[in-house]
Amino acid sequence: MPFTSPIAPTSCSGYCQRCRTHHVLPQGSSGGPALALQVELEKKGRLDLQAAAHQANPLYRLDYLFGPARGQMFGVMEFRAPDNSRGVMRAFSGQYNGRWQVEGWAPPLFAEEVWQQTNQVKERQIKELSRTIAQLKADIPHRQELIKARRSLSQGLMQELHAIYRLTNFRGETKSLPEVFASQGGIPTGTGDCCAPKLLNYAARHALTPLGISEFYLGRPNPSRTRQHGHFYSSCPGKCQPILGFLLCGLEQ
Ligand SMILES: [Zn+2]
Ligand SMILES: [Zn+2]
Repeated sequence: MPFTSPIAPTSCSGYCQRCRTHHVLPQGSSGGPALALQVELEKKGRLDLQAAAHQANPLYRLDYLFGPARGQMFGVMEFRAPDNSRGVMRAFSGQYNGRWQVEGWAPPLFAEEVWQQTNQVKERQIKELSRTIAQLKADIPHRQELIKARRSLSQGLMQELHAIYRLTNFRGETKSLPEVFASQGGIPTGTGDCCAPKLLNYAARHALTPLGISEFYLGRPNPSRTRQHGHFYSSCPGKCQPILGFLLCGLEQ
């Protein structure tokens, strides 16, 4: 599928509780490297760009994005290194085909072993409950109780997972997701898994100065069609903006 996207000007931004203002990182000149990445991905047809063709992992094939799982967001950050050289880092949103880490891409905001340990036990309990619920007739009162129990298990698991995220900003501060999240209401599922948080966190931890970030969508459109193949988007309001104020804090504007 050809990439024919115009680069609409986008930015990543969020409200900083400490400075009581919005911090903004414009796209800068990251649109060019973002288009170059789209072309490279299309040409190779896979995410493990550094692997030789015969060593490529089938899990990382690009056609995954056009299947039942649908597409996802990708991000490119241009940065200046401490030696004044410029470079580019890339990220995919969430997991790619069940994997958090692919070589050459920004890692998630938590230690993967901790995520696996946290997830394992409760996820098994939730699945067992689901099996039991599926076997019970709809009119059995006990069934409602089990559904409630499953809901509170899921919510508990989500809170535990949010607590293992570690966000580092350009002041050198590191905080967890619940400490940082600057919005009323609960933390949405998937917060901290978008490309901009992964890229900014990576930059702050490696003493890199971000010069611009571009985020774009690749693959089959999402059900509501608010995400289209090859299009560029600003940081999302629900999940990213409540944490980007913290993550951008300390970066020279
Ligand atoms: Zn986002
Ligand atoms: Zn600030």
